[in-house]
Amino acid sequence: MKWITHQSVAVMAAFALHQPLASLAAVWAGSVFPDVLDQKRAAFSFSRQRAFNQSHRRTSHWFGWWLTLWVFAHAGCLGPVPDTLLTGFAFGAFTHVLLDMCTTKGVPVLPFGGRRFSLKLCRTGSFAEYAFLAVCAALFWLTQRQALLSLDLPLF
Ligand SMILES: [Zn+2]
Repeated sequence: MKWITHQSVAVMAAFALHQPLASLAAVWAGSVFPDVLDQKRAAFSFSRQRAFNQSHRRTSHWFGWWLTLWVFAHAGCLGPVPDTLLTGFAFGAFTHVLLDMCTTKGVPVLPFGGRRFSLKLCRTGSFAEYAFLAVCAALFWLTQRQALLSLDLPLF
């Protein structure tokens, strides 16, 4: 999916789950991090685009990394502020994998290997993706507008 979909849906979901304000920023960053990882890794290659196409949506898009990071953040080992930020970041990355799972290309079943899983609901950048985003935004507005307008969120 496009980054606007990843970022919007992840932040709307985190807001609806009453995450603190600082966490929403981390969610926003985490929601595109799996793609950023693939881009940074490809940048070291002679043929950047080719390397990106070969490595995109592989290991970085396995849900287990992000679920493990989220559980670790919930263990409370780092302190309240880092745990809040890490929880948000992991949540954002996890939603990234869930949303990419809806596309025809899908995501890996295991961190290494070729087996993939896809719900085949839409193609990246298609009308169906933007319709999905519009429905999410409408549902968010219908269910969260009071909280959004009052912005009654703790910072951490
Ligand atoms: Zn992705």
